[in-house]
Amino acid sequence: KRRERNITSLLRERLPQRHVNLLEQAGALGDTLGVPVYAVGGFVRDLLLGRTNLDLDIVVESDGIAFARELARALKGRVRAHTKFKTAVVIFSNESGEEERIDVATARLEYYEYPAALPTVELSSIKMDLFRRDFTINAQAVQLNKGHFGRLIDFFGAQRDMKDKVLRVLHSLSFVEDPTRILRAIRFEKRFDFQIGQQTTRLIKNALQLELIEKLSGRRIFHELEAVLKETNPLNCLHRMDELDVLRRISPHLRITPTKNQVLEELENVIKWYRLLYLDDSPEPWMLYLLGLLMGCAYPEVKEVARRLSLSRRQEEDLQDVRELSHKCLGLLQQWVAGERTMSGLYCILSPMRTEGLLYLMARTKTDDIRRHISYYLTHLRKISLDIGGDDLRNMGADPSPVYARVLSRVLGAKLDGNVPTRKEQLEFAFSILAEETAKAHDQHRHRGRA
Ligand code: ATP
Repeated sequence: KRRERNITSLLRERLPQRHVNLLEQAGALGDTLGVPVYAVGGFVRDLLLGRTNLDLDIVVESDGIAFARELARALKGRVRAHTKFKTAVVIFSNESGEEERIDVATARLEYYEYPAALPTVELSSIKMDLFRRDFTINAQAVQLNKGHFGRLIDFFGAQRDMKDKVLRVLHSLSFVEDPTRILRAIRFEKRFDFQIGQQTTRLIKNALQLELIEKLSGRRIFHELEAVLKETNPLNCLHRMDELDVLRRISPHLRITPTKNQVLEELENVIKWYRLLYLDDSPEPWMLYLLGLLMGCAYPEVKEVARRLSLSRRQEEDLQDVRELSHKCLGLLQQWVAGERTMSGLYCILSPMRTEGLLYLMARTKTDDIRRHISYYLTHLRKISLDIGGDDLRNMGADPSPVYARVLSRVLGAKLDGNVPTRKEQLEFAFSILAEETAKAHDQHRHRGRA
């Protein structure tokens, strides 16, 4: 017989007070409405593993949408309901004025279809809800009603699996039901430093043999791949995917060669370095790692992979552009380091490139000198801006025209090289360029007049 465990003290220890209050409030509302209420999924898992996760998922054994409406009223928030799935999101502002959300789902027996080949067994609705989930560790619940507050519900042996650090599915058809769970398994295994269990590994291999990955839609694969690449150490996941032959089944072009591996490792370091800088843009992990994974591929092969992942036209163009530009840049940078090495020259080479491309270049180059200069561009150079603008040119009597951009970019070049540090000097330099441009225009005009 299962031993009951109550984790109230863990909840109080590990969660911010306002979250404990929230859980109690949800439980009290359940009592008022006479329905069992549970916190479920990743929230419970992370609580037990001692990891922060403030995404609250609630399941009620009754009409989840009605419950969400009442909860929203109590929290002075609003509800977005999905009638088809009988789920709702409660959106409200916390004391700090930040927006928070709670997902509420309905657990009701009649909405669930049993996987065809499983024996039908009578399950309570919370048990059925948990049974549809991916892994035992994700299939735990904590009851929130007052009399049972903190009661841990673990029907499938998650406690033991967490102790053994094993990732297990709940039944043998799990991957057939949803092959994206293969990628989820790899992601959780690496994130928590667990092992995918023996039987579960066999089930993955079976599913792969049935070519279930090949049958997945591009969108679903890309969605899971994106989640993988957002992990702290995605390369571990990619290696595991390669080892299990998942990468090849998504596309043979994605296989990891030793050359790619070197760049991917550098890439992971560069990305971590960049994140530590807390600059105001956050590069897209999917693009960064696809750049690495597609190294050495030709245009049509990249196109093939883009198709397989159902990338949008925009995403595909961005990817191809960065690839093309990074080839050019690397050549230009090699010339630059051998030449006069002006900052304006460096700026000129690197400014057309997206952050993803610059980080990729840093990972790819074998020259420390180049890497250092790209890093200098990212952290300093690209933040430098002029102290003058179009208005100043207008005040000099120049009509708005493409000449503006030319003049301003030359002044910026001069500022980057340290020649016109102050606004006054920039104005003077702009004036002299304008005068030069006007004289040139006159000349051309006269020339054309004569001809
Ligand atoms: P993360 O920390 O990555 O957000 P999570 O477990 O919260 O992890 P979600 O993708 O938000 O992940 O899913 C929430 C819960 O829904 C999971 O804990 C799991 O119980 C269930 N779930 C999500 N995706 C699946 C799936 N493909 N198959 C079965 N259950 C799933």
